[in-house]
Amino acid sequence: MTTHPPKRVQAIFFDLDNCLFDTNSMGRDLFDQYDHLVESWRLNLDEARAIKQALWNGGAPQLAIPRLGVSPEQQTELMKAYDNLQVTKGGRLYADTKPFLSKLYAQPERPRMILVTKGLNGFQRRKIQHLQIEQFFDHIQIVGDFRWSMHTEKWVAFGHLAVSLSLNHPQVVVVGDNPTDELAAGRKHNMVTVQTLRPGVTHDPQAKYHITKLDELWSVCNL
Ligand SMILES: [Mg+2]
Repeated sequence: MTTHPPKRVQAIFFDLDNCLFDTNSMGRDLFDQYDHLVESWRLNLDEARAIKQALWNGGAPQLAIPRLGVSPEQQTELMKAYDNLQVTKGGRLYADTKPFLSKLYAQPERPRMILVTKGLNGFQRRKIQHLQIEQFFDHIQIVGDFRWSMHTEKWVAFGHLAVSLSLNHPQVVVVGDNPTDELAAGRKHNMVTVQTLRPGVTHDPQAKYHITKLDELWSVCNL
């Protein structure tokens, strides 16, 4: 009987937040950088605290900010302030990220390594610089920036990337934590989805594979 080797993986689309980057490591004082702004709105302490808490819990600012119940002008101010956030000193990668990325990047016949992260351009760019991971990716794309469109989503970016890099969808692996974002997008494109089960991540039964450490990708992707 002839066995066919699995098709070679052409590209891996990596998510950043809660996948490679431990966003919790930035700490809740991240949003203390908003203090001057909410003070200018003359909010009381509880209201200001509630805003910061909602942003901390709310994930991507494009989703969290419109839910805050503040005026459209204040939303724009918050969005700009979010874009200008500085990464706090504690911000760090998960321990296995850099060893895995550097090992994979050094392979002579490796898949293309693509980082697709959702958020505001300035803040996401600053995170990438702070984490010093730029050199491990052939391409980095930030989607969802408010200056482009609130509706730019990962599935659009994945489709464009597949066309521009001449990728065969089933030979693309999507690695991320979010069931409704990159994992849903990858599934929609018939790409292979791998959920990184970092602490606090909810298991996505629809993801094709689940890993707790990036090293597991060597066997999942047949690297
Ligand atoms: Mg994520």
